Amino acid sequence: MIEITDVRKSFGDKHAVDGISFRVEEGEIMGFLGPNGAGKSTTLNIITGYLSADSGTVKIDGTDILADPLKAKKDIGFLPEIPPLYTEMTVMEYLSFVYDLKGCRLPRRQHLKEICEVVKIWDVSKRLIKNLSKGYRQRVGIAQALIGNPKVLIFDEPTIGLDPRQIIEIRNLIKMLGKEHTIILSTHILPEVQAVCDRIVVINKGRIVANEKTEDLINAVEGSRKLVAKIVGPEEEVLKALRGLGGMKSADVIGKRDTDSISYLLESQERVDIRKPLFFALAAKGWPLIGLEGVELSLEDVFIRLVGKGNEKTELKKSRKGGGNK
Ligand code: ADP
Ligand code: MG
Repeated sequence: MIEITDVRKSFGDKHAVDGISFRVEEGEIMGFLGPNGAGKSTTLNIITGYLSADSGTVKIDGTDILADPLKAKKDIGFLPEIPPLYTEMTVMEYLSFVYDLKGCRLPRRQHLKEICEVVKIWDVSKRLIKNLSKGYRQRVGIAQALIGNPKVLIFDEPTIGLDPRQIIEIRNLIKMLGKEHTIILSTHILPEVQAVCDRIVVINKGRIVANEKTEDLINAVEGSRKLVAKIVGPEEEVLKALRGLGGMKSADVIGKRDTDSISYLLESQERVDIRKPLFFALAAKGWPLIGLEGVELSLEDVFIRLVGKGNEKTELKKSRKGGGNK
């Protein structure tokens, strides 16, 4: 449905997008993950035809965006990083304005009402946009992307600046839209793509560093797991017991509270779940386990591991080559 090939874009001597290729199949929700400045927005602006690439091609449902921009753009709904909302308009005035802008032919009132119901803004449709909360404004942004019922939806960091409850609502909305659309969702938050996307393309410094099914990527980078355990018991002895537990890679004290519990950061060996043996070992000693929490993998962890894996491979190749030369 979306096919981009060797797309490049520089600003001055800065290679913002440095030869990117990927495909998004019909019905897929693709996560576009990368730190700030990685080139996500630049790529999305090129895909949606807001920005022209220096080289490379973008095809939407088989149509080259340069050869037939009107047709290609008709198939895309875009929520840019900063949604172009006219805050002096009411929600309905604004959506009606975008409807005209897009030259939409669907029955106006019915189409706009349906969209408002899908994104749950019907009850605020007569309010001025400037009086809406950030979460509601973001929904209006999504609503304008849905006008004309495009096959492809592209959302650039749609949950940035929202509170945790609004984030969950927007994520659920995107998941629901994914049932009937092909979607690209850009974000710098790993749990976000984990929660919503079928596949993840990771970008760093304008280049793709991974393109995997969500499960495979998470498995590949997860390896060992980190846990924080709050345990009541004598520090030295507890540490010794933790370190002696089968499958444990490391155990360290990370904090003490004024109560008698101590927090430990535990790292298990690859693909080992130490939670049950941990519980039984502590119970046997009579040391209460009063808290156990997983530490979520951060984007930094992902990069360290992806880049680390890349290095391992090159090291391996080098040593093989060296061996052959002897
Ligand atoms: P992301 O969306 O992943 O945070 P961007 O695509 O916005 O990244 O930016 C990629 C790089 O290109 C950054 O280093 C940014 O500073 C630079 N850049 C983006 N837009 C412009 C522009 N209009 N002029 C100059 N540099 C830009
Ligand atoms: Mg951006």
